[in-house]
Amino acid sequence: MNGLMQQQPLLISNLLIHAERHHGEQEVVSRRVEGDIHRQTYRELARRSRRLANAVAGLGIGFGDRVATLAWNGYRHMELYYAVSGSGAVLHTLNPRLHPDQVVWIADHAEDQVLFFDLTFLPLVEAVADRVKTIKAFVAMTDRAHMPTSSKLPGLLCYEDLLAAASDQFSWPSFDENTASSLCYTSGTTGNPKGALYSHRSTVLHTYAAALPDALNCSARDTILPVVPMFHVNAWGLPYAACMVGAKLVFPGPFLDGKSLHELFEGERVTVSAGVPTVWQGLLTHVEANNLGFSTMRRTIIGGSACPPAMMRAFQDRYDVTVLHAWGMTELSPVGTVCTLKPRQLELNGEQRLGVQAKQGRSVFGVDMKIVGDDGAELPWDGKTSGELMVRGPWIIASYFKNAGGDPLVDGWFPTGDVANIDTDGFMQITDRAKDVIKSGGEWIGSIDLENIAMAHPAVAMAACIAAKHAKWDERPLLVVVRKPGAELTRQELLAFFEGKIAKWWTPDDVVFVDAIPLGATGKMLKNRLREQFADHLLNAA
Ligand code: AMP
Repeated sequence: MNGLMQQQPLLISNLLIHAERHHGEQEVVSRRVEGDIHRQTYRELARRSRRLANAVAGLGIGFGDRVATLAWNGYRHMELYYAVSGSGAVLHTLNPRLHPDQVVWIADHAEDQVLFFDLTFLPLVEAVADRVKTIKAFVAMTDRAHMPTSSKLPGLLCYEDLLAAASDQFSWPSFDENTASSLCYTSGTTGNPKGALYSHRSTVLHTYAAALPDALNCSARDTILPVVPMFHVNAWGLPYAACMVGAKLVFPGPFLDGKSLHELFEGERVTVSAGVPTVWQGLLTHVEANNLGFSTMRRTIIGGSACPPAMMRAFQDRYDVTVLHAWGMTELSPVGTVCTLKPRQLELNGEQRLGVQAKQGRSVFGVDMKIVGDDGAELPWDGKTSGELMVRGPWIIASYFKNAGGDPLVDGWFPTGDVANIDTDGFMQITDRAKDVIKSGGEWIGSIDLENIAMAHPAVAMAACIAAKHAKWDERPLLVVVRKPGAELTRQELLAFFEGKIAKWWTPDDVVFVDAIPLGATGKMLKNRLREQFADHLLNAA
């Protein structure tokens, strides 16, 4: 017997409709690329999103077509989130920190049709414009007064002109909730980047779960400032959660330094923020140096890489800001676990409690997890035994876009590549990363790309690129190199060899020359061994 409840597809447009009807006066505040502060309400956001949906249709975008963005966190990007997905097209958030060659590869793979970009990224767009195969229109996200002239982009369109010419009458279409809504590429350990293709259903379910009190804890009484970029896994879902609960939203644009962020936290009375540890380091340094504090901020969600306990101590003990340590992945939309304490952990004293908070936390409902050994058998939850972390649930990928890399699942579970233990209370702690990619300031650097370049140097016999700890960026690439017999090669010569071949910030920070690199049974370099040996190399050298 079926239940007798209404059937309504879970659609992203409904989040915006809800925000407009029930929180119409709530504000969305953005620091713009131009440097000024822009304010609008959810009512205006909804109206402009409808105009944009008409404009996007006018550009020939149809159901399922990919629309790319190269943009910071701001209201125009938010309008694209709703207008593109709400129309049934797919929003593809490109990462502007990638090398132009990678941007071209990803845009071609996604078959993007139109590219919207913030003015900051004009040089990048100019560098890729005549190379991308499928993009037929470029739109600068600005008004007429700030429109650039570019000989490389003769038909460049102006965002505000498009909106002004479009009607604000638009009925959000209804369709199957399993329809694709947005696309975000992740760099794997091997080969090319792979796309995680989210659906309306996965996004809305993820939003419900992420907003819960024991997860990101979002409410209409909050003012949320997502520092995590909207080009990185939909800013951890916060642009959707804010509409769901009716929270005030504050977008920092490109200004992510400690001073700019602190001004915005105080000026807009921000209560919750979210970002990777690197950003918070800059903020804490600024706050400490200037003897400042936080008058309204009460929680900060830290994830993307492990949050150092010293950072938690500073936020909590000195500034009365609770740190919520969270773990997730692009493939998980991204929220997997959040370290919200249970009553038993709340009773613990300072250092013991900090020990729990340093863990990545408990799974939110919707994410089932387990740890397995090399033989695939499940391991006990004793807080000690480590194994590969496997997850499953309705907002976790089933396969990558265009089936890149084949079926990623093992018996229906997604292998995360992270090594973790889980304690008796269900708190998961990442102990290692099976992947060899390097995470600098929250952004991946592909070690294999760097090794391939190094190996292309005539004096190099073997090169391994590993993540070394870094005071500012958490991790930076360190090259471990074996020279060819009799060959001469200096650190400077090898680093100069990288120039022009990769984005500048991907350049390894240092090179160490060794006699041999340890190899495993299948002939693969044992990078774990190297990581142990050279983990502190950059800290010691600093
Ligand atoms: P991404 O897909 O770029 O979001 O990266 C996901 C990866 O970041 C995970 O597989 C982890 O290796 C790492 N990661 C995310 N959050 C944390 C965290 N809180 N602690 C340690 N590693 C993390």
